[in-house]
Amino acid sequence: MAEKGKKKEASKADAAQSNFFRYYGQLVHQQNMLQDAVRTSTYRDAIMQNAVNFKGKVVLDVGTGSGILAFFAAQAGARRVYAVEASSVAKHARTLVEKNGFGDIIKVLEGKVEEVDIPEKVDVIISEPMGFLLVHERMLESYVAARDRFLKPGGLMFPSSGTIYMAPFTDTALYAEQMAKVQFWEQTNFHGIDLSSLREQAVKDHLAQPVVGYFSPKVMIASPPVTHRIDFQTVTLDELKTIDIDYRFEIEQTALMHGLACWFDVTFNGTTAVKRLSTGPHTSGTHWYQCRLLLQKPLAVNATQVVTGKVNMVANDCQSYNITIDANLDKSKIGAKAIIRLQDQMYHYLTSPQTYPEQYAQNAQDGAWNYGQEGNGSESAGGAGGAWQQQ
Ligand code: SAH
Repeated sequence: MAEKGKKKEASKADAAQSNFFRYYGQLVHQQNMLQDAVRTSTYRDAIMQNAVNFKGKVVLDVGTGSGILAFFAAQAGARRVYAVEASSVAKHARTLVEKNGFGDIIKVLEGKVEEVDIPEKVDVIISEPMGFLLVHERMLESYVAARDRFLKPGGLMFPSSGTIYMAPFTDTALYAEQMAKVQFWEQTNFHGIDLSSLREQAVKDHLAQPVVGYFSPKVMIASPPVTHRIDFQTVTLDELKTIDIDYRFEIEQTALMHGLACWFDVTFNGTTAVKRLSTGPHTSGTHWYQCRLLLQKPLAVNATQVVTGKVNMVANDCQSYNITIDANLDKSKIGAKAIIRLQDQMYHYLTSPQTYPEQYAQNAQDGAWNYGQEGNGSESAGGAGGAWQQQ
């Protein structure tokens, strides 16, 4: 019985993974990432401005996709780049390598980085393994597994660290939108059937979806956000399986707290430049957007009150995380809870323009978000750092 149960779990995880690689095998989705100009140009700058870390070095690119980061490393002077890719896009990366005359430097290896053979240890590992909320897709684990298998002692991880940010937010319109969907289950005569016994479950299911999309910094009701930093040079696989974040917020605005507003950044600690790629609400948009995790019941909070609690994130076999959030009003027994399945994203890009900054809303209509210094060629719908489950 137990054996059978284990097998079932394994096949669920395998199915999730084959969906994941089928998604990334398509050029449509590689293009989507390449056209996120904030993302791609920050990676380019981080590598080029630290050419000293690449010149004459051996580099491993974990999940090379179209090969773009491998090309940057080669342009920065790398002697050899092993470009590992598990999906069928590997053959297209190989085409680009050959046609662009990089065949002597970049070696495309098709397979999982956990399984491929590489003939030597490497000086630098580059990768873009981030999903929304940093950890969705669980690809950080492959990045870390690559480090443990192939990085020379003292070698460089690029990016070097990542940080999750979370702050309490209020958004009555968003909450009302979710609850309006639940009303469907309140019907007592849907083609003669009383649906209302499922209402409670419908509330749970709707609120379990992380809301992926931009939000205005104005919705946050306490600062600074709580942070959880992951050092890619040292983090262990076990530490990525369960993540606990304790928080304490001093509320700045009397409001209904609807949940936690979240984003992440990664940092490239090179020898000559430190670069940061942020997906926060104060900077240019990216294809990761931001995300919000909703409480099952809003928590009424007064300015100056303190909310404490815990976020518990446990890796699951859908290449994502089950998240539980506890929120407690200090010195009272009043609290609220969130139970989130991070893989069940609800995309919320354009439905409520007042919830994100005006400059985003304006250009978002035509799907071309070119604003701010760096610009952004993000996609119009569908893939916030991996929408492969929705296929
Ligand atoms: N580096 C590219 C692609 C990033 S998307 C870019 O920056 O544009 C992540 C890529 O990693 C996908 O193409 C995915 O198929 C690949 N990938 C994910 N997990 C992997 C693993 N364990 N081994 C090899 N490739 C992996």
